[in-house]
Amino acid sequence: MTNETAFHESGHAVFANIFKDYLYVHEITILPSEYGKGVNVIRTIKSEESPLDRFHFIIVILAGLVVQVSKDCRHDHGIYKKVLSYLDKRLLTDNQIKDSFDGDFQNLQESLNNLSLDLEKPKNQILASAMVYIANCLIKTNQFWPAIDALAFELTQSKILKREEIDKIFNAIGFNDYLIKSRQAFLIESEVLLYEQD
Ligand SMILES: [Zn+2]
Repeated sequence: MTNETAFHESGHAVFANIFKDYLYVHEITILPSEYGKGVNVIRTIKSEESPLDRFHFIIVILAGLVVQVSKDCRHDHGIYKKVLSYLDKRLLTDNQIKDSFDGDFQNLQESLNNLSLDLEKPKNQILASAMVYIANCLIKTNQFWPAIDALAFELTQSKILKREEIDKIFNAIGFNDYLIKSRQAFLIESEVLLYEQD
């Protein structure tokens, strides 16, 4: 039986793989570690972080929770609306994040605040765009769930996976090849979503 946390962490890792020039996944683990349980994502040092970089980071943070809650009802698209309204309630009121179960909410809150100021765009709009992006990847392609399933299965067995092992899993099911071919389209889609007018 694949571990619940393994799905969550695999969600982060699979989405980080889209933006790998900026967000490098060093290792993922379901064991408590020095850094806490989770995905050790290293942000590539850039002289200036663009709003699009920040948006990609938000997508990757959000993907853990979204994948975790939708794994058992992946054909019910209504789930994404439910997740969004739950997040809206928790994230948009500053004093409601103190009981967060891990660092995700803290990170999301901070990144949303920064990006919202950068773009003068409301936080809930950015959140909704990130959610649409994740839902599109999960619903409109046949590539993401198999990658998540495979990674979560191996993570449940091994408890910890290094970058080389993650790539081995992605290569075995063709996910890395798929991203090489379609990464540019995924990057463009994120830009369109971030900057589209409501
Ligand atoms: Zn997480």
